[in-house]
Amino acid sequence: MDYRKFIAERRAEILGRVADAAARSGRSADEVTLAAVSKTVGIEEVAAACAAGYAVFAENRPQELRRKQEAAAAYPELSSVRWDMIGHLQTNKVNLVVGNVALVHSVDSLHLAEALDARAARLGITVPVLMEVNIAGEESKSGFDPADARELIGQIAGLGNLSLEGLMGMAPAHDPDAARRAFSGLRELRDELSRDTGLPLGELSCGMSDDFSIAVEEGSTIIRLGRTVFDPAYDLQ
Ligand SMILES: *Cc1c(COP(=O)(O)O)cnc(C)c1O
Repeated sequence: MDYRKFIAERRAEILGRVADAAARSGRSADEVTLAAVSKTVGIEEVAAACAAGYAVFAENRPQELRRKQEAAAAYPELSSVRWDMIGHLQTNKVNLVVGNVALVHSVDSLHLAEALDARAARLGITVPVLMEVNIAGEESKSGFDPADARELIGQIAGLGNLSLEGLMGMAPAHDPDAARRAFSGLRELRDELSRDTGLPLGELSCGMSDDFSIAVEEGSTIIRLGRTVFDPAYDLQ
């Protein structure tokens, strides 16, 4: 099979579904950024995705992020792509991330926010971040409980070298109704925190391969797509 052909055709299908979902909720598809989650593929697949039109790539582990970025140096066409960090980050790994990504989606503790801020201050830069919220209340998922997000957002927003852009969340798998509740809950929490802090908090990072249409209907601005972008065996429903 021709992988480049697959990835371009799949992208067209995904864009069609994003446009349909946006239209159903009176939004513009332009409001939705597609982040291609490249954690399970190599640099060849990333280059194929870039050729198909993806401009944002996301990794969930800092060492793998750096490996991919180093490999990308051999591909001139990858020099202008954006990289995001979407996975749980330990404070001792912030040096691998700060300065190397456009957005950290997965700020899940005050301690991590402070470590990112300290590193950014040392480099003299500002790091755009999202607060990850455990919106479905699942034990296994990381992120702030909504109550903790309300309590700590002032401190995180006050860190001088972070720029808090919005919230990130994950829905329970295999349950479309629960996913919709999680995404609408994330949006409502964002609206509340935005009112309370006066910050726009415009970015909502939610929606993955199995539930991105629902997420777009509920206001997502960044969908994080792994299998549906890269895996020919993935069955896009
Ligand atoms: C792997 C991953 C994704 C992509 O998941 P798919 O179901 O393959 O689309 C999105 N977000 C995070 C945080 C991930 O780790």
